[in-house]
Amino acid sequence: EITMPRPPKRRILCVANQKGGVGKTTTAVNLAVALALHGNRVLVIDLDPQGNASTGLNVPHHSGVPDIYQCLIDGVPLDSVTQAVEGIPTLWAVPATIDLAGAEIELVSVVARESRLQRAIRASEGEYDYIFIDCPPSLGLLTVNALVATDEVLIPIQCEYYALEGVRALTENIEMIRSHLNPVLEVSTVLLTMYDRRTRLADLVEQDVRAHFGAKCLNAVIPRNVRVSEAPSYSQSVMTYDPGSRGAVSYFEAAQEIALRGAQRTQPGAQRTQSG
Ligand code: ADP
Ligand code: MG
Repeated sequence: EITMPRPPKRRILCVANQKGGVGKTTTAVNLAVALALHGNRVLVIDLDPQGNASTGLNVPHHSGVPDIYQCLIDGVPLDSVTQAVEGIPTLWAVPATIDLAGAEIELVSVVARESRLQRAIRASEGEYDYIFIDCPPSLGLLTVNALVATDEVLIPIQCEYYALEGVRALTENIEMIRSHLNPVLEVSTVLLTMYDRRTRLADLVEQDVRAHFGAKCLNAVIPRNVRVSEAPSYSQSVMTYDPGSRGAVSYFEAAQEIALRGAQRTQPGAQRTQSG
């Protein structure tokens, strides 16, 4: 029996890893769908000019559609670029169009360039339990905006050589942003993706990542599963495309862990209970 209690306070998770193809978008989309299917109100913000999260959620994002670019650069309210996701009544998405490709450069010369997304989210009147931000594969100003706007970072790690070396630059950036721009920022969650149980390498990488990140690393591991990679071509998440697949079941487990941990979390600055 899967239960995903709604968090006491809205949680913002940014899914980040400067490496491409490690499963950021797949993770953001599938966790969001899993939580929404179990009674949570969820928003996905697509912050990658490639618009893969928009595609995966079947949200229009062709040129001309109001998108996150307008929000970041022109100051258009987040709520006015938010779309309902068809078929899942408690899921919404802010799409990214190709316009966002210019934002990395254009942001350089706007006021409060690191905190445009934070301001937009704070001004939103949407009542969400979760906001997932799908980051582009870089550490530029778009990712900086995500790290300033978020409470929690979720790092998907693909089980391959140098997996840990790959996230060092990201964790250094997180430290820098924590000390200068966003004191509540923390890596709350690490998820192993595209895991191939038959290989000794996957096993070694898993041991390394668990030793390094400890309890931040979810027990659930996402296997390499063809159903996961097929789903986007049907404009679906694997959660609806094939809910019984190993990929979908693992994402449900990961979402449940995230929800249960969140239910236990003390809020930043909150008093700890005597027993805690
Ligand atoms: P990123 O957003 O980090 O660039 P994606 O989520 O787009 O990575 O994943 C990269 C590719 O790998 C995509 O084609 C996706 O469908 C595929 N993929 C992701 N997770 C899995 C998985 N568990 N099993 C099989 N294919 C996967
Ligand atoms: Mg992506």
